[in-house]
Amino acid sequence: MSQIKRILVTGGAGFLGSHICERLVADGHDVICLDNFFTSQKSNVTHLLDHSNFELIRHDITHDIYLEVDEIYNLACPAAPGHYQYNPIKTMKTSVMGAINLLGMAKRCNAKILQASTSEVYGDPEVHPQPESYRGAVNPIGTRACYDEGKRAAETLFMDYHRSNKVNIRVVRIFNTYGPRMHPYDGRVVSNFIRQALHGEDITIFGEGNQTRSFCYRDDLVEGIIRMMNGPDDFIGPVNIGNPGEFTIRELAEQVVELTGSKSKFVTKPLPSDDPTQRQPDITLAKEKLGWEPKIALREGLTKTIEWFQSVDLDDFRAPTP
Ligand code: NAD
Ligand code: UDP
Repeated sequence: MSQIKRILVTGGAGFLGSHICERLVADGHDVICLDNFFTSQKSNVTHLLDHSNFELIRHDITHDIYLEVDEIYNLACPAAPGHYQYNPIKTMKTSVMGAINLLGMAKRCNAKILQASTSEVYGDPEVHPQPESYRGAVNPIGTRACYDEGKRAAETLFMDYHRSNKVNIRVVRIFNTYGPRMHPYDGRVVSNFIRQALHGEDITIFGEGNQTRSFCYRDDLVEGIIRMMNGPDDFIGPVNIGNPGEFTIRELAEQVVELTGSKSKFVTKPLPSDDPTQRQPDITLAKEKLGWEPKIALREGLTKTIEWFQSVDLDDFRAPTP
């Protein structure tokens, strides 16, 4: 095994964070999982507590914290629209003040730090698919701005700490990711559709359902993030990590209904404001620089995700709290 490192994962109890913690613990690293449990629950990581190389800290990254670490994965931030719009000012603080606190830690410890950025930095894109060079079309005063602009500001902070303070950074722009342990009530399209289909409830299609998204299975995503953190120091990103397979929301609904054998009907609901009409990652850079591309097609990933939804008690997942 390569060198054992002390690694901090913020948002480590969340959907993606818990899988990253799992992977790093299995690789033998000393892992500190930090979370305020705003959109997650301890049960995502309780199975790791028996490992001597895992520890859990309840903390909010908008407040400073002093730890000695070699690497930081900064994933702490609500990610689903309903979660990040619950308290938009707090969302912006989490992205911006969180980045400042953790970049300060990275600078002090001489640690490498990775930022979980997002395809939302491209807003409602006029360029399709989206390469990293595209600067985006975000509405800075809209209801998604707390998240989009917060993540954009965090990218700026990462780049400036790199340029001004030589902090060793990595920035990944994550596209819609799904899989086991995603919050069943997060309001995101995959969780809504699977939950609704399994319960025989109406499937809520926002707008006409012609808007597109490209869905990446969590295992592919985790592999891409780990490769980026461990990639060459002269490739700091931003890099798109996502699955280029693009589907309309109606196509997604049809696949979920087919795979679950559900009798649910489709109903349409108003399209939320500033909802992007299309989204697909250009992953040329990730392929070239990291030798990474996703392997799990939507059908296979949905099947595994549906199995997970069937295996858990959905009542165990509480609504988000401040
Ligand atoms: P998630 O909501 O499951 O995980 C986020 C975690 O951060 C949760 O455990 C939450 O409790 C924690 N958190 C939130 N605010 C915090 C704070 N102030 N202090 C400490 N902890 C805090 O979401 P996820 O899907 O696992 O997303 C993880 C990261 O990846 C986020 O930064 C998100 O913006 C980014 N991302 C995710 C996707 C996706 O499709 N899943 C897409 C783009 C970007
Ligand atoms: N969506 C939908 N029905 C739902 C939830 C979401 O049609 O019950 C749509 C939503 O309007 C958007 C797409 O699905 O166009 C993806 O939404 P999600 O919240 O999962 O992610 P994001 O918009 O952040 O990509």
